[in-house]
Order: sequence, then C-alpha cells, then structure tokens
Amino acid sequence: MKLNYINDINPANGKIIKKIKCSSSKEIQAAVKKARNAFSSWSNTPLKERSRLMEAAAKDFIKEKERIGKLITDEMGKLYKSAVGETHSVAYGIRESIEQAKEALKTEKYTEENLITELHRTPIGVCAIITPWNFPVSMPESLLSPALLAGNTVVFKPSENVPLTGEAIYNIFNKHLPAGVINLVQGADEVGSELIHSDIDMIAFVGSQKVGKIIMNAASDKLKRIVLELGGKDPMIVLKDADIEKAAKFAVNGSLRNTGQVCVSVERIYVDEKIHDKFIRLVEEGVKNFKYGNGYDDSVMMGPMVSEEQRKNVVSQVKDAVKNGAKLVTGGKAVNTDNGYYMEPTLLTNLNNSHRIMTDETFGPVVCIQKVKSEDEAVKLANDSPFGLGATVWTKNKKKGLDIARKIESGMIGVNQGIGSVSGTPWVGVKQSGYGFIGSVEGMRQFTVPRKISYSG
Ligand code: ADP
Repeated sequence: MKLNYINDINPANGKIIKKIKCSSSKEIQAAVKKARNAFSSWSNTPLKERSRLMEAAAKDFIKEKERIGKLITDEMGKLYKSAVGETHSVAYGIRESIEQAKEALKTEKYTEENLITELHRTPIGVCAIITPWNFPVSMPESLLSPALLAGNTVVFKPSENVPLTGEAIYNIFNKHLPAGVINLVQGADEVGSELIHSDIDMIAFVGSQKVGKIIMNAASDKLKRIVLELGGKDPMIVLKDADIEKAAKFAVNGSLRNTGQVCVSVERIYVDEKIHDKFIRLVEEGVKNFKYGNGYDDSVMMGPMVSEEQRKNVVSQVKDAVKNGAKLVTGGKAVNTDNGYYMEPTLLTNLNNSHRIMTDETFGPVVCIQKVKSEDEAVKLANDSPFGLGATVWTKNKKKGLDIARKIESGMIGVNQGIGSVSGTPWVGVKQSGYGFIGSVEGMRQFTVPRKISYSG
C-alpha cells in the first residue's frame, strides 16, 4: 500500500521530527512535466550562464552549512561537525563540476580531406535523481551538478530518511535556477518506483544493489540511460610486513566512521596469520576507545544508526556470525540511550566466508577479521564477491602492494592508505557495485549523448 506520509525520525531519540507528505501520482507526473517543459530553454542556455547560476548555489551551501548540518544530524544522526563539513564540501563539488563541464561539453571538430564532422555533447532530457541517506548532501550533489550543468532538467527524490535535508538542497538550487529545471518529489520506494517508470529519459541513482537492479529493469521500457552506484563489501588485506599500527588504526576508523554507514566502509579484513593476534589486540583497543553518542557531542566519534530497521539488520548479522562460530571480542549490542538507535562499536574475529557478515553488505559499526595463510588466499577471498567498489592493501613493500592492487577486482584501491584519490578522477565500482561512474570529465559525459553534424568544407 502506498504511504501518504513519511515519519521523519530523529535516530538519536526516536522522536518524529515532522510528518512529510509523500508526493501523489499526480504530483510526480506534474514534476516530470515541469521538467520536460523547462528542458528546451535550459538545454539552450549557454554553459557560461548555467555555470554562473550553479556557482550562486555553491555559495549558498557555504552560507547555509550550519543550518543544513543541523538538519542532517537531526535526520540521520551524523556527527554535527561532519555534517557541516559535508555541506561545505558540496560547494567544492559544484565548482569542480563547473571546471569539468568546460572540457566535457566542448564541441569537437574532426576533418578528413574535405569532410568536416562536429561532435556535439548534448543533454539527454529529463533526469530522475534518486539518492540515499548516508551522505545526504554530497551524494545528491554528485549527480545533480553534472546532470544540470550538462543541460538536463531534473526530478530529484531524496531518501525518505532525510526529506528535510533533501528539501533544503532543492530550495537552494531552485532559488537560482529557472523554474522547472529542478523539481522535488518526496517519498519512499513507491514514489521512487513511479518516478523511474514515468516519462523521463535518464535515471541517476546511488543506493543498494537490489534497487539498482530494479532500476536497470525499469529503464528498459524506453531505453532510459542509467548511472548506478551500488555499494560495496570492501576488503582490506593486511600482509605480514605491514605497518601494523597504521593498518590497525585504518581498520578501526574505516569500519566505524559514520557508524559504518559508508559504501566504502572497510567491511572485511584479511590478515596474515603471522601478525593476526597482535593486529587484533591493536584493533580491540581502538574499537573499545571509539566513543559513540549524540552527534552534537564534540567528543563523540560516531552517532546512532540511521534507523531501527538498519540496526536490527546489523545486530542480526552479528548474532548469526557468533552462532556460527565467530568470536565476539567486544560490542555487538543495541543500546537505547535516550531511545536512540545506538549500537556498540563491535569487533568480530574467527570469521570465514560462510558467515553472512563476510558476504552481505553490513552498513554498520562492525570490524570483521579473518585470518589468512598467504597473499594468494587473501586476494582470492577479496575477489570472491559480487561487489567491487573499494579495497585496500597494507604492506611495507610498495611494489608488492601495487602488484596485489592490480589483482583486486575493485574500482578504487588504496595501497597503505584509504581510497582517497586525486581530484577529478572518477568514483567507480566494478562488477555489481555500479554501472557507469560518478565524477570526472568522462563521468559528466554520461549525462550527455554525442551527436554528429557533418558537412563539406
Ligand atoms: P538505502 O537503504 O541505502 O537507502 P535503497 O537502495 O533502499 O538504499 O534506497 C536508495 C534510494 O532509492 C532511496 O531514495 C529510496 O527511497 C529509493 N528506492 C527504494 N526502492 C525503490 C524502487 N523500487 N524504485 C525506485 N527507487 C527506490
């Protein structure tokens, strides 16, 4: 049954912040129509002008970062300082896209004897943008900026967990862009489903693999273009010659930051048996010191989980692992301080691939460690997954690290560091972690279609 309202709940206290009306079928169709009507004028607006308006929006994100940061912390529990930082960084994301657009959208001219061919990068049309809640401003921005700069018009559906943050993003862009260029619909899966089946030309999506596959199916009716970023099950390989302190620190922070609700969280760690016990002792200390609590408390390192449902899923994965022979070193329990959806930072060891927590995406504050006998075994296990988003390798032998990195079936691999990469390069998953990619000059071109005009000189 279609919901009429979403309860926008603060995960730090379980209280309803606001009841948000879900868009009706009529409203969804009207939003698509408005986007369609605005397309001709927006797509013919010179890039310089589109960029000027987007820059005005970028400035507003900086101006409003405290207000939006507060909405984020209230709606999904993120640490307030991270929420403000994320909102500030959106301005840089927009500016990076403005720079990339100059290159990505340039008309190219080819000549062959007397023949001239112009290659134009033209916008696709109306783009549905559907996003998750874990990075509630930066994820939408990463799709909105290239879509809009390329000259498409947009119908944006934020996650049902962050509707007010979504509305704030919409309000900023809508204040600066011509009417109808960006449109907002609110709701959960039913609204998303209606939107992807409506008269649109493209769907850009960040979320679960399950919904990504639904979208790919829905896109076939009109051969709608798609860009999908679908999460991961990132492996971390720690070889016997790794800088063990540095690796342990990364394991803790990479697994627990944002309460483990990051598509490139460290989800499974393969550690050489020769350093396994020492590594666990260091990680245990880090996990036990990882303070959790309300996101407004400056001393806290992670906030509550986004929802009761998400917490249940993670606790059940932990219980299932323990029932099947894993060792719970610390944590594992739900904690209801102030009626919030907290979960203790958790460390599990003695794991293997038969445990659900080593194969399903967990999206919670759990560090999972499996002992391995060799590099080859670690690589084999790392690749034994339908996901292929991020991965890291830890060894003091850089050449060996780079060799192993090339063998790992992931889109983004860090050697002795996280996946942080040079700006302007794409955010990309292989295998079932994505279809297309986000960011970069090439990434922006996915929001266009090449068209040729040929004539003699
Ligand atoms: P998450 O659990 O991380 O939010 P989901 O893939 O469930 O991941 O949701 C991501 C986004 O996709 C949300 O905005 C959600 O409302 C939307 N969504 C969920 N189901 C569907 C669907 N069947 N069709 C279109 N959008 C959907």
